[in-house]
Amino acid sequence: MIEQEQNKVAMVIVAHPDDAEFGAAGTVAAWIKEGWDVYYVICTDAAGGGPDDAMDVGHEARLVISNIRKSEQRAACAVLGVKDVIFLDYHDGQLQPTLELRRDLVRVLRQYKPFRVLCQSPERTWTPVYAIGRYHPDHLAAGQAAIAAIYPASQNGWDFPDLLKEDLLPHKVREVYFMGAPNPNYAVDITEQWDLKVAALRAHESQLAERFPELEGFISTRSAECGAKYGMALAEEFHRAENR
Ligand SMILES: [Zn+2]
Repeated sequence: MIEQEQNKVAMVIVAHPDDAEFGAAGTVAAWIKEGWDVYYVICTDAAGGGPDDAMDVGHEARLVISNIRKSEQRAACAVLGVKDVIFLDYHDGQLQPTLELRRDLVRVLRQYKPFRVLCQSPERTWTPVYAIGRYHPDHLAAGQAAIAAIYPASQNGWDFPDLLKEDLLPHKVREVYFMGAPNPNYAVDITEQWDLKVAALRAHESQLAERFPELEGFISTRSAECGAKYGMALAEEFHRAENR
């Protein structure tokens, strides 16, 4: 295991474009304001985000949607000041926490060496207010793959020895923030970042434009309810875990 000094690098690992904006855009904006470099990793190719009733779901149609959603994610990242977005291009809708995905995540963890990782919860909460939409199976798979990549694989040279041959040395992530986790224990005050969060969400036009006013109201209410628990006006909450 290799000890490292704190570097102000954070990595957000999620399944799809817009996942991070819903759960953590205010936090990402707050971290960037505090001088952190934030990188996004999107596990899927985002090709499954067309209308539910579409009949043309072939390769060409998927490619069109994938390109739109990737450009929307880049636009959202530009709003927030995210340094870069890495797309791993796994098939949207069929993400699994495979060893292949774990290896790809270990590779980016060792390349970028984040102190913090923010990812999706591998577990459901079954909280009625969020219904089941929050827990797309890709979200659970992305969360499970992320935590498996963080511990122990990224920090253990014996996992994926081929990566050592690429000069990707073990890297220990120190803090993990899970979105949508069953036991939130940490909140970030996003009151000052609210406008940025809304602007970043708006960038996901193909997914959200039609229902944006309703959506903004819902997220605003939830952020205020979350904030009230911690004495903040608006907040995002996480399960935060340290890797000592
Ligand atoms: Zn999603």
